[in-house]
Amino acid sequence: MPLASQRKIAVVGAGAVGSTFAYALAQSGLAGEIVLIDQNEALARGQVLDLAHGQPFFPAVSIREGNPSDYRDAQLIVITAGAAQRPGETRLELLHKNAAIMHNIVADIVKQDSDGLILVVSNPVDVMTYVALQSAGVDRGRILGSGTVLDSARLRHLLSAHCSIDVHNVHAYILGEHGDSEFAAWSMTHVAGIPINEFCPICGRCEDWNEKRDAMEQQVRDSAYHIIDYKGATCFAVGLALVRIVGAILRRERSVLTVCTRLEGEFGLQDVCVSVPCVVSETGVEQIVTANLPENETAALHASAAVLKVAIAQLDTNA
Ligand code: NAD
Repeated sequence: MPLASQRKIAVVGAGAVGSTFAYALAQSGLAGEIVLIDQNEALARGQVLDLAHGQPFFPAVSIREGNPSDYRDAQLIVITAGAAQRPGETRLELLHKNAAIMHNIVADIVKQDSDGLILVVSNPVDVMTYVALQSAGVDRGRILGSGTVLDSARLRHLLSAHCSIDVHNVHAYILGEHGDSEFAAWSMTHVAGIPINEFCPICGRCEDWNEKRDAMEQQVRDSAYHIIDYKGATCFAVGLALVRIVGAILRRERSVLTVCTRLEGEFGLQDVCVSVPCVVSETGVEQIVTANLPENETAALHASAAVLKVAIAQLDTNA
């Protein structure tokens, strides 16, 4: 097996998400080498030129176009490649199309005998993480999905604005599917180290916190729909969320992040990829933080996992 080059990151898919991630990654100083790969070679070339012209303003980093042979010694491969839904195309058809794309990319990675970690971003990310794991047949920790890291950031932003407290003093986690069935784990939500329900009377900004928190949770679920309506795609916050995950890996941080991982009995769930708090470090998902969730949150996690199991089962049907 080839030794991974130090801090070489391959980004598959040079569209809105892949290129914005590459831009944020270049500025972070985390990567030594960034390689962009896209089936649309002209797009990859254009993005690389545009990024490389910023090199005098970035910390030292090499940025270039690549091809599947770059998987061989990449420390991390970030997959943002995917097809967008076409008019008249069903979600199920799209699911099959993106699963085929994911399977082929992972097959190429396996062919290169790469020992790099794989970070899946393409949607539906929970199902795509499952497909990647099935296709690669490797230890579950090595392949993770970006999951609800972005959604948790959205919730932290909303809580910070609502309570008028620095977002860095707000800890909050969205768990479950990166999608409509996700939910806020209020039992794990703290402001300045104080559980949210105890912080509420101190804050005193809203009349009915229960109503407010339901609205906030829904706002997180609807965020991507609104942004896509306004501008066609989401890219900035997800790009930064990816840099956060990559930083945890490259700096061996053992950060707790709500990435998507395959559960094998944790939380009473089996054989489904879903976002739960995970310790993320050099070898990917190093530990699942099996928090003792209250009954309603455990039920919400199970309901979300059930939605994903249906989607996984659909992979075996004809589109
Ligand atoms: P995009 O259409 O701008 O880019 C996708 C790119 O993938 C295109 O450039 C396309 O040419 C490329 N591609 C398709 N098949 C390929 C293949 N087999 N090999 C190499 N490249 C291939 O889309 P986008 O806005 O960048 O979004 C990318 C994906 O990320 C989508 O699935 C989107 O839903 C997802 N996304 C995920 C999150 C998250 O939090 N997980 C957030 C935003 C977007």
